[in-house]
Amino acid sequence: MSASTTVKVEDQVPDTQEASQTANGSAPPVNWESEIQLVSSLAKLQELERKIHELRHLVPNKLLEPLASLSYQSEPSSISFADSPVLLRNGLDQAARTQLANIESFKSTWQGPDLTPVWAHVESRIKESNGQILQPTGLWERDYDVILEELLQTEKSKEEERLREEEEVERTKAQASESGWQGVVESFIQRNVPGVRIIKGQGAQSLAIALSKAGIIFHVEGLKENDVPGVAEWHVSSKAPPGRVPTKMENSIIECLNSRSRKWDLAFLLDMISSYADLKQTTCVKCNKLTNDSAQLPIIRRAQSTNPSTQDPRVFAFDALHSSCA
Ligand SMILES: [Zn+2]
Repeated sequence: MSASTTVKVEDQVPDTQEASQTANGSAPPVNWESEIQLVSSLAKLQELERKIHELRHLVPNKLLEPLASLSYQSEPSSISFADSPVLLRNGLDQAARTQLANIESFKSTWQGPDLTPVWAHVESRIKESNGQILQPTGLWERDYDVILEELLQTEKSKEEERLREEEEVERTKAQASESGWQGVVESFIQRNVPGVRIIKGQGAQSLAIALSKAGIIFHVEGLKENDVPGVAEWHVSSKAPPGRVPTKMENSIIECLNSRSRKWDLAFLLDMISSYADLKQTTCVKCNKLTNDSAQLPIIRRAQSTNPSTQDPRVFAFDALHSSCA
């Protein structure tokens, strides 16, 4: 195993004989100790073998398929291959072209960058075992695409568990003191985010945020729980001037803000609200348009995944989406 890893590292060095023998030098090094890597390679090989079986039907079945229609009694009104040699020839031409394209696609998968390191690894393993073939039964005993799916699923749940634990630590820290949230507000104000103005002095554990370009003011209020000194959850409502009812769009935005994750996290909420500052210029990440077919702006916000330890204070970025694209 480790021998082939060394070979892969040498691939990065141009003009060594080793490199030209194994894989094309541009392929990234592969970690053959990783189970997911091994299983995903096996799944690719298994898929190739399935295609080989498919291609075996090429001669004569697939190529001569148009001839088969000659033996069917066609309906009197329709023109069949039997009525026209030109049609029959075109049919045979088309069948040949389609099947050749299938072979070409198979060849390029076989020789493609995805499989080059796999073949190099297989060859080196055969060499290591003095030319003995690795799969002595010649049969696939497991479905590697199924195993791969399971492994990826396990990996995903582990990652989700890690993120949950991480958030738990952050939450406990943020809720440890009565006034911790004011520090969050101060460091947000210092960032001078364009088009976003914080209005303090709205009462205990509350503030207002004005988006001047979008013409919206939000009221944000911290809700308390008995067992923690800090704020358990920040709640957003509209702060429309007296006599004006919030628009349908404002209500939709508030609904989206209040259904966010990390409800305890004021820094997250302030960044999320800021993402609406350029509401009328922000296009949807999915369809790249400003308005959708129902003339709606992309008012849904989805947090981009970030590495928490890279910035202090942490800054969250959001993708904009139409409700129809979310
Ligand atoms: Zn869209």
